[in-house]
Amino acid sequence: MSEDINVPIRMLVFTSPDCYACPNVERIVHKLVGTYYSDMCHISTVNVLENPKIAEKYHVMHLPTVMIDDEIVLQGLVTESDIRDLLWQRVTGSIMSRVKTFDTRKETLLTISKNSFDSIMNEEFIRPNIGDYIHVGVMQQMMVSLIALDSLVPHLLYQAGRDVGLYGVGTYLMITLNPNIGTEFRAKERFEEVIKGLVKYFSDNESINIPMKLAESAEIIKIENDLAVLRIYGLASACGAPFVGEPLCHFSAGEMAGLIEALTGRNAVVHETKCIGTGHEFCEFEIQVSDERITRNIAEYQEQYVIEDRNQHFQGILHDISTRLHESFISPKDVFNRGNIGNEVHFTKLQQAIVNLKMTDPFSGSLLYAAGMQLGIFGPGRDILQRYLEDENYSWPLNLKQTLYVLNKFFHFGMIQAAKERADVAIIEEGDELKIRVFECAMSSGAKNSGTTFCDFMAGYLAGRIQILTSRDCVVTETKCHGLGDKYCEFEISFVDE
Ligand SMILES: [Zn+2]
Ligand SMILES: [Zn+2]
Repeated sequence: MSEDINVPIRMLVFTSPDCYACPNVERIVHKLVGTYYSDMCHISTVNVLENPKIAEKYHVMHLPTVMIDDEIVLQGLVTESDIRDLLWQRVTGSIMSRVKTFDTRKETLLTISKNSFDSIMNEEFIRPNIGDYIHVGVMQQMMVSLIALDSLVPHLLYQAGRDVGLYGVGTYLMITLNPNIGTEFRAKERFEEVIKGLVKYFSDNESINIPMKLAESAEIIKIENDLAVLRIYGLASACGAPFVGEPLCHFSAGEMAGLIEALTGRNAVVHETKCIGTGHEFCEFEIQVSDERITRNIAEYQEQYVIEDRNQHFQGILHDISTRLHESFISPKDVFNRGNIGNEVHFTKLQQAIVNLKMTDPFSGSLLYAAGMQLGIFGPGRDILQRYLEDENYSWPLNLKQTLYVLNKFFHFGMIQAAKERADVAIIEEGDELKIRVFECAMSSGAKNSGTTFCDFMAGYLAGRIQILTSRDCVVTETKCHGLGDKYCEFEISFVDE
């Protein structure tokens, strides 16, 4: 239970600058949350003019609208006592459903973590056709788009990492990498052995058959009693990234904390103090253990890093990463600087983060969809689409069938490794209906039935690409997914103007 409350409930307030009732309702919501649920809830404001896609997805027709866990709590002008009652009911309901879904989430995490272990140690590929690696740029695109969206995400990623460290098979891998962890029982020495284990965990390892390629190398900068500083070079979530102005490796920080807690039986807090994202040449983590309860302060992070125009600032960065990713495929220039281990990382590392996030915060699905769509519309590769369109003598705008034909070619274009590594794509014709089927998707492959779809980023990306080819506003919905127990993912397309 207490584990669950570590992840705040996300409350969404949809507003727009010209909504006369919004400021008042917003003020009351902030007041009530501050008074009754300050540790439990996080309020995110969504300006519908800036994020029309998100408003559309939730069918927000009136302003203001307040949502919790993907459900509308109140709409329009409501009195303070009504707001109080509605919030109370919904927050209580949300806490109860979190306790219920906690076990499902743990099981899903364990499956993914076990899959990755089988893949790296026993060479049992989860994706037999396209392999178990993705380009680090693919990971960064998704992580950065999530961090961009609001200031709660870094904390959610940290918690996701911590859960993976605590409940996954990483502890077993750590003991395999440093057997001394299993035999050392003195607290101080054991902590040291765990830190030495982390050095191996984040290094290119010869003892592993299919390396995780999580990072190039790691070293201990300092270790004394309850404090350690670990420096990591070429960490997948940040290597080659442009200057972002804030750290990017929250998931890894959380995973370290979880692993240390599981292996030492003590409380741990990890802060990323230096990152390639903050202009350093490596990432550095400050690790603190204690027998007392210690927690990581979200407010501290937010005070230090959260800026205005966050969305806009990150759009530029995302574009930068996408261009670097594209260049890294079409020219041999290595912009990601990972030396001899190359530009790949085991896809389960990204999957663990996305899946856990989606299962704790349903809103992250919309954020991923919106980010994928941005990339689909503005991202690189439009020149290639244009070339295929000309090859076929299609005149723009295309109809859906032509669009899917071009997209299918695009996804199988030899040099677009990024797309290939993410998934393999087929176009399915069922009667009049055209669907996109995706095999071995990086977000969901190998996941068990968890009662939810995981490939929102993919859906958004497809929607963006379809939109530029058809010149029509469309919505892509994932109807089948590994996360729902299917063997592949499937996406349906509908046009807003129909
Ligand atoms: Zn970093
Ligand atoms: Zn899926």
